[in-house]
Amino acid sequence: MSNVDFDEVNKFSALASRWWDKESEFKPLHDINPLRLKYIKKHCGGTLKGKKILDIGCGGGILSESMALEGAIVTGIDMAEAGLEVAKLHLLESGLDIDYQKMPAEEFALKHAGEFDVITCLEMLEHVPDPSSIVKSCSELIKIDGSVFFSTINRNPKSYLFAIVGAEYILNLLPQGTHDWDRFIQPSELDEWARNSEFNLKNMIGMTYNPFTKSYKLESDVSVNYICLYRK
Ligand code: SAH
Repeated sequence: MSNVDFDEVNKFSALASRWWDKESEFKPLHDINPLRLKYIKKHCGGTLKGKKILDIGCGGGILSESMALEGAIVTGIDMAEAGLEVAKLHLLESGLDIDYQKMPAEEFALKHAGEFDVITCLEMLEHVPDPSSIVKSCSELIKIDGSVFFSTINRNPKSYLFAIVGAEYILNLLPQGTHDWDRFIQPSELDEWARNSEFNLKNMIGMTYNPFTKSYKLESDVSVNYICLYRK
């Protein structure tokens, strides 16, 4: 059975041409990218240079490109064909070299076990039917001393208010229907899947949005958006 929800993937395909428009539906991802890149770098010994990184659910390549620019050797996988096409075209503009492939994480793991120093899987798990299976694939793909970063959205009344009502209906940061509250993931759920896949939580931090200053920051509050780092 496939672990891909094509309704979800098609939503991203339909928006694909706008991946690199910083004022588009993807503005929030552009805005948070420097923050999360800094977090990833910090937890990878201060540099990504020469690191072999897999970006799962890479979309149009916002994070993938920023890591390649830091000197990482990046592979990006996603199941939205149109997004990957945009990601590949954008390499012509940026002059970076990234290996983009359309392949489910589970299948990719069968071919590339233990190959990656770092795996990033950001803002993706909440779009997948069985996120635990993606976590398990990460466990197969990562080197024994590698670092795996997940980010997603917590599930509680506040996240319904902030991530759906606020972001999609009041502030119009995201198109209506981008997120399905039922699919949001509590840190304890992610942690259970991770522990079942031999991972230990090394760090977790919240990502918050201030609608008045229109800015994001990393802080201890993990009640809505959060990023975590796992190692074996
Ligand atoms: N990780 C990127 C993009 C997040 S948007 C970033 O944070 O900037 C979510 C992405 O997940 C989309 O590109 C969508 O196509 C992808 N996606 C959704 N379901 C997927 C699946 N089952 N396998 C791989 N990618 C998937």
